Amino acid sequence: MQNADAQELAKFSDLAHRWWDPESEFRPLHQINPLRLEWIDELAGLRGKTVLDVGCGGGILAEAMARRATHVTGIDLAAKPLGVARLHALEAGVGNLKYREIATEALAAELPGHFDVVTCMEMLEHVPDPSAVVRACSQLAKPGGWVFFSTLNRNPKAFLFAIVGAEYVLNLLPRGTHEYAKFIRPSELARWARDSGLALQGSRGMQYNPLTRRYWLSQDTSVNYLIACRKPG
Ligand code: SAH
Repeated sequence: MQNADAQELAKFSDLAHRWWDPESEFRPLHQINPLRLEWIDELAGLRGKTVLDVGCGGGILAEAMARRATHVTGIDLAAKPLGVARLHALEAGVGNLKYREIATEALAAELPGHFDVVTCMEMLEHVPDPSAVVRACSQLAKPGGWVFFSTLNRNPKAFLFAIVGAEYVLNLLPRGTHEYAKFIRPSELARWARDSGLALQGSRGMQYNPLTRRYWLSQDTSVNYLIACRKPG
């Protein structure tokens, strides 16, 4: 049994053809991409690195990282987004990038300790057992390597902003994109990371102003947030 929810994967496959349209359902991912890319690069230094992007979808982050790193592998279990990602990389002429349809846990068994940097963004809240994905990401990292996660916090404000606000008021995301019960508190994510042998290095919140339609990183992790971890060398 794979640690995946077929309905979730179908949801992303159905929208895949619009993945690179910056005004589509994926607008938020396009907008946050430069912010997360800079934070990752600042901490982990992508230049010269071998990188894995887990739950890469259509490749917005994977392709951007490939422009700075030596090699990037993107994995996902939804076939259509991977097809879109491959085509986009081809059109963009980004050659140091490959995409595979494989479960995180399966890749961890195949390539343990292989990657300098592992990223897993906006994916854990769509998975039945996110702690198993965290463990696999840790296994995939080299000693001394970096592992980054981003997800949604679970509290009344996150419900109001990420579901009511984003899906019902501002229509930033299709209704039903997120399920509140699957949101993850930073303390829970930090515990899974620690239990997987990772050391927490830092965190950032992601803020959004609906009037200016701009995002920025801050210290406020109450809704969207990212964490950076490191595997001891
Ligand atoms: N990480 C990308 C895409 C986020 S959308 C970004 O931030 O730009 C969430 C992605 O997670 C989708 O592409 C979906 O297919 C993928 N996903 C959901 N469950 C998964 C699983 N169990 N294994 C691998 N990928 C999964």
